[in-house]
Amino acid sequence: MSEKTFPLDKPALEKIAQKYPTPFYVYDEKAIIENVRRIKAAFSVFPSYKNHFAVKALPNPYILKILAAEGFGADCSSYPELLLAEMAGMKGEDIMLTSNETPASEYRAARKLGAVINQDDFSHIEYLEKTAGLPELISIRYNPGPLKEGNAIIGKPEEAKYGFTREQLIKGYSLLKEKGVKRFALHTMVASNELSAPYHIETARMLFELAVEIKEKAGVRIEFINLGGGVGIPYKPEQTAVNYQDLTAVIQKAYNEILKPAGLDPMGIHTEWGRVITGPYGWLVARAAHKKEIYRNYIGLDACMADLMRPALYGAYHHITIPGKETAPLTEVYDVVGSLCENNDKFAIQRKLPKIDVASENGIGDFVVIHDAGAHGRAMGFNYNGKLRCGELLLRQDGSIVQIRRPETVEDYFATLDTAGVKDFR
Ligand SMILES: *Cc1c(COP(=O)(O)O)cnc(C)c1O
Repeated sequence: MSEKTFPLDKPALEKIAQKYPTPFYVYDEKAIIENVRRIKAAFSVFPSYKNHFAVKALPNPYILKILAAEGFGADCSSYPELLLAEMAGMKGEDIMLTSNETPASEYRAARKLGAVINQDDFSHIEYLEKTAGLPELISIRYNPGPLKEGNAIIGKPEEAKYGFTREQLIKGYSLLKEKGVKRFALHTMVASNELSAPYHIETARMLFELAVEIKEKAGVRIEFINLGGGVGIPYKPEQTAVNYQDLTAVIQKAYNEILKPAGLDPMGIHTEWGRVITGPYGWLVARAAHKKEIYRNYIGLDACMADLMRPALYGAYHHITIPGKETAPLTEVYDVVGSLCENNDKFAIQRKLPKIDVASENGIGDFVVIHDAGAHGRAMGFNYNGKLRCGELLLRQDGSIVQIRRPETVEDYFATLDTAGVKDFR
């Protein structure tokens, strides 16, 4: 069971909304830091640990700065993401570039920052050498193919476009060594939103065994193993979060069994966790604007799937609560929807909720809080249908509120168009 909490009560929200009208995201700094410290404590059983926060989960430099202060680095896969990590003060090998179909310009940018380049394909060894030069340290991404069972979101590894095959991996390290690369790392990423601890433990075992094989077959000593991201969060109240201590205790056992006898201790353990770092500590706050009663009963929000796409994209469940009505009986069944001209723009379908007051009837609508939106939320926003994406607020540890991204304006929407030029066109 995971309790669904929200750090602000209705009066506090009313006050915030006077200055920052809904919809907005709000992130809880204190909760994020406490979570990060729990993770670091659990991984302290290894000689060294670093999480490279997957920037795509929450690409805001204020958040990255909080994480950097806790010793986390970044996992980037584009030039703008590298810039965000740099803006947050992250440096050198704290940054990983785990990209694919990478343009030369991105390799060059990563080299300039001294970031760890994680190669996605055998052919990119030569490509990187030609376009940016080979750095001292290189990581390789492994795709286990049919050796590893898939998971629901990311699919089967053998159908995934990422990484080297096992054969290519051995050849790759040998080639890199030949070309003068001195330091080596190993990476995989085979799951997304996976709550099963055994799945992640299996992944670690697989990589540990592989590091031994690489030592034997390629004569290359891996200095750190990056277990990737993909740890799930309990979006549904009846689901249970992964217990970090239990997870690392079993991984430590595998470390002792596999790496130590092979002479691969000390081995750095890295992760690229994104969702589990910020997901549960961010909420999308909207207001109920309209009510509609046809074949079903609808509550229309001032937010839409342009602000949070997961329900429409994956049919993902996001818990919803109504501030001030936390303990009210769930007497109604609603589809909670946004304003996009797409019928899958629904935050919740046939959801049991308390009776919701809407602005069109009562002048001021209830707040509607959408939970677990702190990762892959605002980041996936888009402008389809001329929708402007909402802003982001940070609830500081002292209880104050800082706006860390303003809402988009019409000017932002038109910024890429030559609106003067169009007057003279035809
Ligand atoms: C998306 C991604 C992550 C982060 O995944 P989460 O599910 O947010 O933990 C890490 N590494 C790579 C390569 C990714 O593509």
